[in-house]
Parts: sequence; structure tokens; C-alpha cells
Amino acid sequence: MKVVSTISEIHSARRSFTGTVGLVPTMGYLHEGHLSLIRRARDECDHVVVSIFVNPTQFGPNEDLSKYPRDLDRDLSLIKPLGTDLVWMPTAEIMYPQGYQTWVEVEKVTRPLEGAQRPGHFKGVTTVVAKLFNGVQPHRAYFGQKDAQQAAVIRQMTRDLNFPVEIVVCSIVREPDGLAMSSRNVYLDPEQRKAATILYQALSAAKELYEAGERNATKVRAKMKEVLAGEPLANVQYVSCADYDTLEELEEIKGKTLLSMAVFIGKTRLIDNFVLG
Ligand code: AMP
Repeated sequence: MKVVSTISEIHSARRSFTGTVGLVPTMGYLHEGHLSLIRRARDECDHVVVSIFVNPTQFGPNEDLSKYPRDLDRDLSLIKPLGTDLVWMPTAEIMYPQGYQTWVEVEKVTRPLEGAQRPGHFKGVTTVVAKLFNGVQPHRAYFGQKDAQQAAVIRQMTRDLNFPVEIVVCSIVREPDGLAMSSRNVYLDPEQRKAATILYQALSAAKELYEAGERNATKVRAKMKEVLAGEPLANVQYVSCADYDTLEELEEIKGKTLLSMAVFIGKTRLIDNFVLG
């Protein structure tokens, strides 16, 4: 497994590959969710490239960039046995050298949900993913459904800018009690960790309602809010029942639908979602 950092190194490593290349972009501090993406890429591509980069431009001024968890040695020891060919770990200076001034912005689909709560977040995401695509020139890139809006935004950007990359979205990997795996779960103390299962419970209750035939989106959102309100440690930022592709809030549920939420447990912001239909 080769580990590179600079642009010329990634380009020259890329040139040495023949056959299909799969890219798994991550911010490190890897868990089973990330590893499921790497395994899928390993199954489907001749070469697997994992990027590890805590991208500063997707963090807001009051977010957790400086304390985002990092453990590169552990990450490399987890990636290696999965048959990863190449790890790209650029620095912020490599990605955004002095004088940097080019940004990629997707419009409508970035506005609701995460985009409304985290101004500038998706501009940072799309810019770095475009740069990762240009560095690695993958045939396929693997993203998690955990970040549902991110996947929708990347699909849109890839279509709009004609990147010759197939976007593969992989299902959410959960802890046994339903909590979606996230690098940020380490911020939770034991009491908060227990409380954090409320997101999964709220989504499950909403899904049950849907499966019993409810199609009124307001009632489905109300069910999620009601369950979340039962957890004193949970502070809800948004609850959504939206069209899967456009992410516009629905009145009536029909077709593929995204139930999603962002909830603070203490100072830790957690997101989770289910897909219906
Ligand atoms: P991150 O390191 O948090 O930027 O995540 C890197 C990739 O892993 C993103 O495409 C995420 O959506 C994906 N991912 C994160 N958590 C999970 C999870 N629990 N299940 C599946 N994919 C995940």
C-alpha cells in the first residue's frame, strides 16, 4: 500500500494504474462505515484509492475543525488489510496553496437541511471533491448514505460538470443499538451515547407510521419530533420529510422519500436518515 501526499505524487501513482480505479474520500478516524465503502470499492474496481483529508473549507467558524478526531496510524492499519492500493493524504497547504481562488458551487440542492444550518459547508465539500476527482481520476467514487444531502449534491455536481465518474452510494452502517456510525460519536459521554439512539428511534417510528399507510408528510415529521422530544438531552435542529432527489419538503409522501434530521446531543451534532419508497 503506497501513501502519497503531493499533487505530482498522486498523478504519477495514478498513471501507474491500468484498469478501473475506485476512490473512497474520507476525513479519517475511520470506522466500519468507511470500511464498508472501501470493501465495496475493492469488490468493484481493479485499484482502490482512499483519501484522508480533514478539509478545512467545509467547516464553519464555530465548528469542530481543530478538535476533529485524528489517528492516522490507526487509519492506515485499518485500511491496509482491505487491499487498498493507494492512500492520498494531502495537507491543507497542498490543497489550498497561497493564492488559491477557485470554488465549485452547486445551487438549489445545497440550500435546505445541512446547507441551511451550515452556510458554506457544501461549497467546501464540492470544491474538495472536484479536486479529489482531478487528482485521482477515478472511474467510481464511493460515498455513504449517512451524508444523504452530500451524496445528492455530489451526484448533481458530477452530472453538471460532466465528471466521468460513477457515484456509488452505500448504505448506512449502524451500531447494534441503531446509532449510525460516525467519527463524531467519540465526543459523546456514556449518558449522551445512550441518548443518541433517539435519532434511530425517531426515524423508526416515522417509518412504522409510513408502513401503516400514512402519507401526510406533516404527520410523519410530527412523529419524529414527538419521539425526539421524549429525550431531554436531545436538541433538535431540523427534522425533514423531503423528496429524495430535490430535497424539497413534501406535503404528501409519494415516490422515493428522505426522512432526515440533525440533532444536538450536548455539544455534538448528529445527523441520520432513512429512505422510504
Ligand atoms: P467522513 O470521513 O465523515 O467525511 O465520511 C467519509 C465517507 O464515509 C462519506 O461518504 C460518509 O457518508 C461515509 N460514512 C460515514 N459514516 C458512515 C456510516 N455510518 N455508514 C456508511 N457510510 C458512512
